[in-house]
This record gives sequence, structure tokens and C-alpha cells, in this order.
Amino acid sequence: MIEVKNLNFAYGKQTVLFNALNLQLTVGNVYGLLGKNGAGKTTLLKILTGLLFPQGGDVNVLNFKPRLRDPNFLQEIYLIPEEFFLPSVSVREYEKAYAPFYPRFDHRIFEQLLKEFEIPSLNRLSSLSFGQKKKFLIAFGLATQCKILFLDEPTNGLDIPTKSQFRKILASSVSDERTILISTHQVRDMANLIDPIIILDEGQIIFNQNLEDTARRLVMKVYEDEQETNSCLFCEKTIGGYIALEENKTGEDSKIDIELLFNAVINNRERIMHLFEKEV
Ligand code: ADP
Repeated sequence: MIEVKNLNFAYGKQTVLFNALNLQLTVGNVYGLLGKNGAGKTTLLKILTGLLFPQGGDVNVLNFKPRLRDPNFLQEIYLIPEEFFLPSVSVREYEKAYAPFYPRFDHRIFEQLLKEFEIPSLNRLSSLSFGQKKKFLIAFGLATQCKILFLDEPTNGLDIPTKSQFRKILASSVSDERTILISTHQVRDMANLIDPIIILDEGQIIFNQNLEDTARRLVMKVYEDEQETNSCLFCEKTIGGYIALEENKTGEDSKIDIELLFNAVINNRERIMHLFEKEV
């Protein structure tokens, strides 16, 4: 459904961002695209949605080449960028102008979501707060009934109650026909929502696994003594001890903390890649 082969991309001549990047996504998942600040998450989303063009390699999304910006492709995707501009029009005027670009736009769902997000429909969009604007775009994006929804750092600027509302609404909008790709560096905001996890680092996708397979290979442990963490892949000091991620040698069941997983993959890439190559 999304297939990227040997993608090369650089801003100018100096900053080579992607060097033969490969990525494959299948339909019906909520993917979390994780990476440090500046890893290239926004750039990758822009390439997948046809806002930036690949300089080498092959990018296929829903069997379209995004760079050609075919209207039949654009009506099937929706990108909610991290930074955006909303015009000085009312909710209704915006809906009237933009909904027709999406043939399956569901006005009833849009209405419901605006209500849930408590967006005042009479105000001009430009006068809403940043968080309200973002919620407005999320409502619009979900109402388009697009096949792929791309969200770039969606929880930035949202307050705590809105973050959980956002997770709840996204979780309830998941279906077998829809794929959601969420880029974030705020890993904890996305817990219980994203699965599989994709990690982008140094111009490559270094991890793309679902949490079930991950828990089969890795296990979380809590230790009191630092010496017990010797064989772990990554460990972090917490109050009263250490929380560690290590190879799951005994088939133990544990819930994987995504932030710990992210740090482990970034810091111990070779060993983790090797573990995932093994049959379990
Ligand atoms: P992320 O979303 O992971 O934080 P970005 O894709 O925004 O990363 O940026 C990746 C790198 O590309 C950063 O080093 C950033 O400074 C650089 N970059 C982003 N946009 C531009 C641009 N328009 N021109 C030049 N460099 C850019």
C-alpha cells in the first residue's frame, strides 16, 4: 500500500537526509513513525503525500506516484501538518469549499467530531486557539474518509485532556480499510494507539515491527541493583531501581514501553536488528 524503495533525498547539496531508504506499510494499521528531532519524519511525510519529490528511488502510495499529484490520489489521502494555516472563514464556509474534494466526505461524522472536540462552529477558524485549530483539522481529516491519514506531531500544542480525547477518537476511527501514519517524537503521548512502530534514524528505517512480535523477542524487567542490568539492551534509572529491556529468552509476556524500545533501538541498533532476524 505504501512502498518506498531506495529513496534518496537531500535539501541542497549539503544535507543528505535519506540514503537508499526502504519502507513498506500495509493497510489497516496505525503506524507510529518515531525519530529524533531532525531525523526527517516531516520530510518523509511530505514525500509520501507528494509535497516534496524523491531525488532517487521509487515511491508508491496506493499504486500512485505521489509526486504526480493525481487528483484520484489526493482524494484518498489527508495530511495534518505540524504547522498549518487556516483561513479567516467559518467552519461551514471551510466545509463547503474543501469537502467536495473528498467524494466520501461524511458530514455527519464531521458534525459529531466537532461536537466532541467542542469546536465553536460560528467562530472564524483564524480566531480559534492553536489546539482548537488542530482539533478542527483532525475532525476534517477523519471526516474525509480517506484511505491514508498522515499526522505530523499531532499532540504538539494539545493539553492533557485533549491528548486523551485525541487518542480515543483516533482509536475508534481505525478500520480495515484505513491506514494511519503518525509521526512523533513524543512517544508517550501515543502509547496504546500506535502499532507497528517504525523508527527513522540517520537516513534509514532501522525498525519496523508490530508490538506482538517485539514482545516475543524483547522483555521489560525492573531491577533494584545496577549490576543486574549488565546483559540488558538498554536500561534507564527510575525511582528505586532500573527499568531494562532485554532479549526475551524464556517466552515471558510483558508490555513493551515504547519510549524504552525507541531508546534501545537508537542505542543498540545492531544487536536489536540481529534479534529480529532470528526465528522465534
Ligand atoms: P523531523 O520531522 O524528524 O524533526 P524534518 O524532516 O523536519 O525532521 O527535518 C530533517 C532535516 O532537514 C533537519 O535537519 C532540518 O533542519 C532539515 N530541513 C527541513 N526542511 C528544510 C528545508 N526546507 N531546507 C533545508 N533543510 C531543511
